[in-house]
Amino acid sequence: MRASDLLKPRPEGLYCPPGDFFIDPVRPVGRALITHGHSDHARSGHRSVLATQETLDIMGLRYGDDFAGTTQAAILGETIDINGVSVTFHPAGHVLGSAQICVEHQGMRIVASGDYKRQKDATCLPFEPVSCDVFITEATFGLPVFRHPPDHEEIARVLKSAARFPERSHLIGAYALGKAQRVMRLLRDAGYDRPIYIHGALAKLSEYYQSKDIDLGELEPATVESGGKADFTGAIVVGPPAAFADRWARRFPDPISCFASGWMRIRQRAKQGGVELPLIISDHADWNELIATIKETGAEEIWVTHGREEALVRWCELEGIAARPLHLVGYEDEGD
Ligand SMILES: [Zn+2]
Ligand SMILES: [Zn+2]
Repeated sequence: MRASDLLKPRPEGLYCPPGDFFIDPVRPVGRALITHGHSDHARSGHRSVLATQETLDIMGLRYGDDFAGTTQAAILGETIDINGVSVTFHPAGHVLGSAQICVEHQGMRIVASGDYKRQKDATCLPFEPVSCDVFITEATFGLPVFRHPPDHEEIARVLKSAARFPERSHLIGAYALGKAQRVMRLLRDAGYDRPIYIHGALAKLSEYYQSKDIDLGELEPATVESGGKADFTGAIVVGPPAAFADRWARRFPDPISCFASGWMRIRQRAKQGGVELPLIISDHADWNELIATIKETGAEEIWVTHGREEALVRWCELEGIAARPLHLVGYEDEGD
């Protein structure tokens, strides 16, 4: 079986003709297999959804319990037969519940990794390399300039700043699913034990993480209805990046704006966004992680999706590995 007969790009997403299913479709389809809960990968309105229990739970929190006709929970490492095609989910290390999807049929094995990273993250299971014929990789940070430093070093900079400016508040912008909880957990692992104040958009997901035994410590709502600015003196506040542009952010005393994102490697981006304390913390693989992972899978062919496709394709070619961009549309990781 040729790889391109087992999985092929369609406007709805990556399609498996023999299995009659899509992976992370961007439009409603009959059967969807979903790698993780970020909204560009996990959409509502499919007739049936197969995903890890955590991803199904996260979709339920975001879209309501009727987000799909029927759902089935995939157990990591357990093979499921779909119209004669073998499907197995493996951890991707991206956010809670995130999985790579291995699709195997007539001796051809393709792994669709979804989004992934290799840096240790206490809020999800680590990425597990799976040997395969074709590895489908993202390339969000697929340029050699992108190197993510150890996350605890980035968090240490926040705590240092908080100690230096005890009268000011620190506002950390972080994606509501995954990044925000990882930042909170990193603060706890660094010994920060005061309450962390969170924007309302993070409440349900953070509560869900806590219910899955991911200890985020004491979280308090960042609302001023009940009090004044003084209540947030020296506070660390976490909220989705979009919230920092609106009135919500003005309630905090002399805030220092921080943003946790792989894009913070680019100084200009931080400057443009008015970010005083950029934190290079990403839930995506950096350049070194991408190329190490490609080698580890032993794949003879690499398909590259959303991001900086050209550079990674070129690197593969120089290494003697066949590669092509998939040009899938509808995936955005700008804030990550
Ligand atoms: Zn993602
Ligand atoms: Zn993505």
